[in-house]
Amino acid sequence: MSDTPVIGVLALQGDVREHVTALAAAGADARPVRRPTELDAVDALVIPGGESTTISKLADIFELRDPIDKRIAGGMPVYGSCAGMIMLATEVLDGRPDQRGFAGIEMTVRRNAFGRQVDSFEAPVDVTGVEGGPFHAVFIRAPWVERVGAGVQVLGTVTEGPSAGRIVAVRQGNLLATSFHPELTGDTRVHAYFVDLVRTAR
Ligand code: GLN
Repeated sequence: MSDTPVIGVLALQGDVREHVTALAAAGADARPVRRPTELDAVDALVIPGGESTTISKLADIFELRDPIDKRIAGGMPVYGSCAGMIMLATEVLDGRPDQRGFAGIEMTVRRNAFGRQVDSFEAPVDVTGVEGGPFHAVFIRAPWVERVGAGVQVLGTVTEGPSAGRIVAVRQGNLLATSFHPELTGDTRVHAYFVDLVRTAR
């Protein structure tokens, strides 16, 4: 087995290309995943930012929901950013009643939590396990995490501004989620952290 992990990016909707580019820069063999057979061929999956209600609907239409749930139950590493974080939460506040996530991280997230006036903003976030100083995090209609279960490790909180202290990065076993979009900043440290996690999980 080669040392290069094969990481899929769920390509139903959202910023797929940016994640593929960031994963490749972080040393992965990155490719879009749209069909169950493509899911079978990857070691791990990224769920991109976008719109969680749309991703939820398309996961059913593309018959990916059960296969993804099964892979997660089998230990497949998954990283979700923003809408991807929402898709990994066991409980969603301010969601649409018909949206459903995958078998995921024991946490409650609130959709569009930072308020309508501040649709998008940037703030420094310290991420445990990511060296080199605070992460310059970009938030776009982002969720925050309001509650975590006992098995969930909080990796990052907003360090300054009106939202200081809000939980925006978490990990439970092989599942990683951030409220922000490292794929949009050219800083590949979070992707490198995930690639390492995938190497270790193999
Ligand atoms: N608000 C979006 C949702 O509910 C997430 C926004 C994003 O991914 N940038 O899915």
